[in-house]
Amino acid sequence: YGDHRDLHLSLRRQRQMCIRDRYRIMPISNSFKPGKHFLQIPGPTNVPDRVLRAMDYPVIDHRGPDFAEIAKRVLDRIKLIFKTDEPVIIFPSSGTGAWEAAIVNTLSEGDKVLMFETGQFSSLWQEQAKRFKLDVDFVPGDWRTGVDPKIVAEKLSKDKDHKIKALFVVHNETSTGVCSRLGEIRKVMDEVKHPALLLVDTISSLASIDFKHKDWKVDVTVCGSQKGLLLPPGLSFNAISSKALEAYKTSNLPKSFWDWKPMLEMNKDGFFPFTPATNLFYGLDEALNMLMEEGLENVLARHTRHAEATRSAVKEWGLEILCKKPEEYSNSLTAVMVPEGHDADALRKVVLDNYNMALGMGLNKIKGKVFRIGHLGDFNDLMLAGTLAGVEMGLKKSGIPYKAGGVMKALDLLSQ
Ligand code: PLP
Repeated sequence: YGDHRDLHLSLRRQRQMCIRDRYRIMPISNSFKPGKHFLQIPGPTNVPDRVLRAMDYPVIDHRGPDFAEIAKRVLDRIKLIFKTDEPVIIFPSSGTGAWEAAIVNTLSEGDKVLMFETGQFSSLWQEQAKRFKLDVDFVPGDWRTGVDPKIVAEKLSKDKDHKIKALFVVHNETSTGVCSRLGEIRKVMDEVKHPALLLVDTISSLASIDFKHKDWKVDVTVCGSQKGLLLPPGLSFNAISSKALEAYKTSNLPKSFWDWKPMLEMNKDGFFPFTPATNLFYGLDEALNMLMEEGLENVLARHTRHAEATRSAVKEWGLEILCKKPEEYSNSLTAVMVPEGHDADALRKVVLDNYNMALGMGLNKIKGKVFRIGHLGDFNDLMLAGTLAGVEMGLKKSGIPYKAGGVMKALDLLSQ
């Protein structure tokens, strides 16, 4: 028994070390870090204890009456978050799957579509669209500004015979902290009376930044569970308009797993064409309770307030915000540029090693040039104070030139 026990303990220790080495969140022995890990990347976000506990419940029969009741309640209430009364589909996948579902259910091979290079995620969505043989007009961008409504107006008004079938917009570019002005984009689409579908990615804006599926006549809204919706990764969403359902009828791209039709039919009774992620549904049910207890408009106002406090700290430090236009500042994250000759990833390492806080990295073209502070999801004033304190101490330790006092500036604002 003794030998077995030793073997068991050593295997357990090896497994823990492996986890520690890879993720540095479960340190053992001399590198133990007390207190909570600060997950301040712009998603996945901190999952509240209430949601974790709701998921810690036995798996039940996904074709039985209890699950159907939960699913129907979730499918109904999630509409309030998208601000729609039209159907919302939930897939067991990350957000990339919901991008694909939006494409294959509405478009056909060779369709011309208009997309905008606002950062890493719009670039990836564009690559996916090309793989489905869509004819993509990808408007180049500088990764510091959002979709320009004037360019939308220009492109659509020139398209007299309505060759452009859809406009794709990433509402909040998580890679840059730039939020495109969707209300204005919708307005110009209406002004030029263009019938293109509007497909929008709200993966880092839903339940953090105001979004109106119905009022802005969005045809497919794409989302994921791991940011404003307070859940771990694993669920993705398509909120669908009746115009998108019409487009479904003529779309010829191959659809199987992502096919909306069997999903919509079975969802009416709280069922799914394949096994849904049951425990994530329990979590989503509880996350919706929490969002409703706080009130969606209060949730959005909280995100605005935390974003403003973060930006005031960054400005006080004398660092530059990547987003060029204040009217496009993101309320869910702030991407901060480090001065020329300094490495944002070295700063992130200092912050992780010393303060057990993960900050978002610069992706692709802006790797090493920016770090991103996530201030979305289950988040409060003191968590923000801790986050900004970690960044300010990290700046000092890593030798990046900055002016002290950003944290105090943010605290002033938060305590007003
Ligand atoms: N779109 C945006 C705006 C994102 O932030 C992300 C991921 O962070 C994605 C798409 C891709 O989603 P996922 O990684 O869940 O597949």
